Amino acid sequence: MKEIDFKPILKELHLEAKNPGVCTGTEWKYTTGKFIESFSPSDGKLIAGVQQCGVEDYHEVIETAKEAFKSWRMVPAPKRGEVVRQIGLELRKYKEPLGKLVSYEMGKIYQEGLGEVQEMIDICDFAVGQSRQLYGFTMHSERAKHRMYDQYHPLGIVGVVSAFNFPVAVWAWNAMIALVAGDVVVWKPSSKVYLCAVAVHKIVAKVLKENSVPEGVLNLVAADSKVLGDTLFSDKNIPLVSFTGSTRIGKKVGRLVGERLGRSILELGGNNAIIITPNADLEMALRAVVFGAVGTCGQRCTSTRRIIMHESVYETFKQKLVAVYEKLPIGHALDETTLVGPLVDNWAVQDFRNAIERVKKEGGNIITGGKVLEGEDYSSGTYVRPCIAEVENHYDIVQEETFAPILYLIKYKTLEEAIQIHNDVPQGLSSALFSTNMLETETFLSHEGSDCGIANINIGTSGAEIGGAFGGEKETGGGRESGSDAWKAYMRRQTNTINFSTELPLAQGIEFSV
Ligand code: NAD
Repeated sequence: MKEIDFKPILKELHLEAKNPGVCTGTEWKYTTGKFIESFSPSDGKLIAGVQQCGVEDYHEVIETAKEAFKSWRMVPAPKRGEVVRQIGLELRKYKEPLGKLVSYEMGKIYQEGLGEVQEMIDICDFAVGQSRQLYGFTMHSERAKHRMYDQYHPLGIVGVVSAFNFPVAVWAWNAMIALVAGDVVVWKPSSKVYLCAVAVHKIVAKVLKENSVPEGVLNLVAADSKVLGDTLFSDKNIPLVSFTGSTRIGKKVGRLVGERLGRSILELGGNNAIIITPNADLEMALRAVVFGAVGTCGQRCTSTRRIIMHESVYETFKQKLVAVYEKLPIGHALDETTLVGPLVDNWAVQDFRNAIERVKKEGGNIITGGKVLEGEDYSSGTYVRPCIAEVENHYDIVQEETFAPILYLIKYKTLEEAIQIHNDVPQGLSSALFSTNMLETETFLSHEGSDCGIANINIGTSGAEIGGAFGGEKETGGGRESGSDAWKAYMRRQTNTINFSTELPLAQGIEFSV
């Protein structure tokens, strides 16, 4: 691909060579943290830099957010929804440049960058509707002339800590729902993709200003996690921490938030599998597997990592897969012919190399790929050829999530065995089964089927829609965000009983006269 000049796109997104990393809505601060530069994994070039947030700046932001919450919670929810509606309109205007920045800074291909911004737009639309549907139940009281109901109140500050692989959508899933719920948000993005976070805040600032939204409702703290991580997780001012990232860091988040009995939504690693039965449409399965395994260069939490195939289709499907893998166009994420972009950085490449060595050591058979690419087009050192390996499910390396394009093939004889293999990993995020046989599909979705938070039929493991509640079980953390009734985690639930009689009857018929 010919060299790209990214400056016009930075300009369109109102980004400078040096950007402040702290924002309280419309006000930006150059701060006391260390200056950090962002380089594109596609060509290794410097994009721009961010002055990070220091601990003192963080405490100032929290004070501003606490003050903002007092007034924001009193704005009627549909009016808060109106602000979100306008954010959605503004994001539509910036879909292309923001999609390009996501692609250039993180390394996912441009189509996926556009898709990520589309997810932000979709969740805005969803949240606008939700703003008129923050429903509680009403119950019949056991006492005469008493009324009972439950209602949902705003919770306070929601701390959103996001992973590098979804630089903008994860914030939107959380922040748009939190906004209509009457909460205020403090976002700590991944240091690998700060520019995307700054760009998003520049886009929404206009809407906040036009609607006189108080300073402190939407905040950005681009901070070094070593400087701020524990402070934020332990901060009693933050009743809810929504953390998206690795299981390793997620366990620490769970512990620190749990110690103060705060609430956390943990969206952690996956080890997602697709079962392919003898009744599968193999052409459909092929497209789903390839998109799931090599999309975002294997760096989605929902990436397909294991294929559990019936022995009768194993060889045929394996050959089809290998044929596709050997022709995959690998290159610059912004090149429209590319299907596999780079890994995010050299650490990720090292993880890929180490995993391949461990697969071999444990007895696995590499059937294609597994090499780091060299040459002029790959001079950033971040390109790899996606790998397929034949393994056994119990290998230590197979039990782990390697955040890279390595696909494991495993053979099975009976559906019962396939489901047992499927569930026999520590993680429980996304899963799928390909079959046109109802007995197989319903078994997979039943109580004795997949143990994951997401279970699909004839659809791959990645590419979830925002309308469903997103999240997983076991070491994936148990959190749910985005659609369905996930909004309830962002609100404080209250049961109310009102006595409109002239007596004071006690519940359970207890007699107590004074
Ligand atoms: P990560 O755990 O390294 O980082 C996640 C966030 O935590 C980042 O903002 C990072 O700056 C911060 N962080 C890192 N170390 C920290 C520390 N010691 N203390 C405090 N904060 C710290 O994860 P990553 O590499 O950015 O993302 C990849 C991981 O995220 C994968 O495991 C992937 O499966 C997971 N993920 C899960 C979901 C989901 O919804 N389940 C979605 C996307 C990514």
